[in-house]
Amino acid sequence: MTETFLDIPVDVTTTEDALGAAAAAVAEGPPLLIVAVNPEKVVKAQRDPELRAFIEAAGLRIADGVGLLVASRLRGGRLRERVTGIDLFLGLCGRARQEGWSVYLLGARSEVVHAAAQELSRRLPGISVVGLRDGYFARSDAVEVASEIARSGADLLFVALGSPLQEAFLRQHGPATRARVLMGVGGSFDVLAGRVPRAPQAMRALGLEWLYRLWREPRRIGRMLALPIFLVRAVLRGS
Ligand code: UDP
Repeated sequence: MTETFLDIPVDVTTTEDALGAAAAAVAEGPPLLIVAVNPEKVVKAQRDPELRAFIEAAGLRIADGVGLLVASRLRGGRLRERVTGIDLFLGLCGRARQEGWSVYLLGARSEVVHAAAQELSRRLPGISVVGLRDGYFARSDAVEVASEIARSGADLLFVALGSPLQEAFLRQHGPATRARVLMGVGGSFDVLAGRVPRAPQAMRALGLEWLYRLWREPRRIGRMLALPIFLVRAVLRGS
């Protein structure tokens, strides 16, 4: 089931269902493209037709933003569970270890992606990380980056280039990577590597992660103004 926010679709789903969809994609295809949607992306997609088309075409659009849940509740929608990008990323890695799926990490600074891979192996001993690469390559090298991923034989590809770069990479080069599950994960490698702390559990439980990030990185204020604008428009419009 799907609910739309300013005409941008978001799937009413759970982490468990998302893991099931990933298992099906690895076992029998077709490849599954997962996009984490938050209010900021919904607002951005109003002016960016490529981002909109990307979200529309994705196999799974997770609701990664408490603003979506608030808007849904205010207008009597069905979205009740948040599936955060980082939790699904870690959940997929946990499943990858169990099932023997291989993983490729693309994005962030070199020391960050290396530290993230190390931390994954520490938390999930035996996980098969078949390749990694930082996200500061020339755009003209993207084709080569995609073939390197294909050569690695990775089942799961996580791309942490930030938005909309990661969406552009996945749109243009995703198929060439031959990965079975592809997902943009924003700043998740920085969090996993311990470079950016996650909000305390109590704040997360209250849906106040955004406030914590704003306190840590006040320059995000411009981006966060998208939230009230989104709420007012999404609730007034009702779709
Ligand atoms: N990044 C990258 N290549 C670039 C620009 C950014 O790999 O050319 C990485 C950056 O190091 C960080 C992530 O992309 O790890 C962006 O994180 P952010 O929290 O800004 O993601 P967003 O909130 O935009 O999804």
